[in-house]
Amino acid sequence: MNATILVIEDDEASRQLVSYLLEAAGHRVLAAENGALGLGLALAESPDLILCDLQMPVMNGYEVAQALRSHHAWRAVPLVAVTAFSMPGDRERALEVGFDEHLSKPITPETFVRQIEAFLGSFRAPPGAE
Ligand code: MN
Repeated sequence: MNATILVIEDDEASRQLVSYLLEAAGHRVLAAENGALGLGLALAESPDLILCDLQMPVMNGYEVAQALRSHHAWRAVPLVAVTAFSMPGDRERALEVGFDEHLSKPITPETFVRQIEAFLGSFRAPPGAE
């Protein structure tokens, strides 16, 4: 299944690696370097899935999740945190604000795409797109 995936990540090397892996698997990737740009792209482009770092300038990942989940049309889009925050409690906090999963950086390139594609199965078309 080819999907449009939004990658919100302020670290350029991480953003490029994730984008490369997803594009190599046939997906269309949109990338944003901070939470505010990412939120704007999400609303404009209706991606099938969103990957989001937590620690970012302008608008952090928790704020992105809260803003997205407050929009009716965005309650169901798969939202995955990809973050270096992996202390006890970080995963719970991410799930609490609306992330569906919490993956720790550094990512494992060999398994990353499969981990992400698992969330595309739960993709539901937004209202009006059926
Ligand atoms: Mn970051």
